[in-house]
Amino acid sequence: MKSHYDVAIIGGGVIGGSIAYQLAKRGSKVVLLEKDRLASQSSQAAAGMLGAQVELGTEVGPLFELAVKSRAMFRELTGELKDISGIDFGFVDKGMLKVAFEPEQVAEFQEIIDAQQKMGQPVEWMNTTEVIAREPEISGEILGGMYIPGDGQVSAPELSLAFAKSAAALGAEIREHTEVLSLVLEQGSVKGVVTAEETISCDKVVICAGAWSGILLKPMGIDLPVYPVKGECFSVLTHKPLITSTVFSHGCYMVPKRGGRLVVGATMKEHTYDRKVSFDGLATLVERAKRLLPQIREAEWEKAWAGIRPQTGDGMPYLGEHGDWKGLLFATGHFRNGILLSPITGCLIADLIEGKTSEINLSSFSPTRHLIVKQ
Ligand SMILES: Cc1cc2nc3c(=O)[nH]c(=O)nc-3n(C[C@H](O)[C@H](O)[C@H](O)COP(=O)(O)OP(=O)(O)OC[C@H]3O[C@@H](n4cnc5c(N)ncnc54)[C@H](O)[C@@H]3O)c2cc1C
Repeated sequence: MKSHYDVAIIGGGVIGGSIAYQLAKRGSKVVLLEKDRLASQSSQAAAGMLGAQVELGTEVGPLFELAVKSRAMFRELTGELKDISGIDFGFVDKGMLKVAFEPEQVAEFQEIIDAQQKMGQPVEWMNTTEVIAREPEISGEILGGMYIPGDGQVSAPELSLAFAKSAAALGAEIREHTEVLSLVLEQGSVKGVVTAEETISCDKVVICAGAWSGILLKPMGIDLPVYPVKGECFSVLTHKPLITSTVFSHGCYMVPKRGGRLVVGATMKEHTYDRKVSFDGLATLVERAKRLLPQIREAEWEKAWAGIRPQTGDGMPYLGEHGDWKGLLFATGHFRNGILLSPITGCLIADLIEGKTSEINLSSFSPTRHLIVKQ
């Protein structure tokens, strides 16, 4: 074995980048191994919403707590990562509007508003006139909506690069086009990772290979049930922004980006790694977008793309150490919220690696809840 590291991180998406950044900042000797380019998979495709409240509804569970804590970290992170990497990841703090088209949705949103207000989270109901006063291009067909001032957005690819490049500036080694083929597991501990070129020796390994995490582990008899969920998006361009806040409705969301760019997402198709954009998926999104924002018909088409989200059996990410192999950690399965959850994931995994007691109870996220190990 030629080189030795404290930690090898497998996967150069937003999660691997965030962990590499936290560890490099704390002085660990880190190598991040990415089989393609940095942020070339799900983290490239994401719309960048920080939807702690809009996505998680009435559930007051551990994921909500994690999401709210992570969302609160973005403001400080903006300056921090820009100072180190020079990358501005476009944090926008203009809230989210989730609008209702059907009376049942109005009732559903009222329940969410009540539950979230009880948790002390700012959210308010707006009637149709109030929504349109705020966002004049939204369809007059809507029956009102809930406004969440705290749910902002970022540019997901730039955030992912800002993490990885800040990690590199602080001493982490980044290796692109380096696929990890297997792990070295001996006497109850992880000892290294194997690539096509070499075996890299390390004390700890973090699996952040997104939807491919299960595929990587399977040949070693470790069955981590992470599965792929494809999502498609498209973007259009206008000179004058059509909306200022992110607008969400059932089956479609719109995220206004810099320079009059509007991202519209996203479809869901389970159990496929096929990243082709389907005509049918796109046609559905286009129809929903026209209903929500009629003026989008006049916009200039920019492009369409797809990405593969990592999902788990119960919708909760895997964050923690393997029960049997010491030093083998998982940070994967963030599904629709990996961008939102990236800052807190980096801190939690770095804390675990340093042996610090976390202020967050991680038992609900423990990978051992679903791990099957074939001896
Ligand atoms: C259309 C769409 C919209 C989304 N919108 C949002 C949103 O608005 N907000 C939000 O919070 N989240 C959103 N998400 C979800 C978010 O993108 C993911 O949760 C997040 O990017 C997951 O990050 P990751 O680093 O775990 O995975 P990835 O970004 O997929 O990174 C995993 C990396 O591991 C690498 N890899 C795999 N196997 C190996 C190996 N053997 N060796 C080395 N490297 C390997 C891959 O090449 C890849 O680069 C969206 C996702 C999609 C698809």
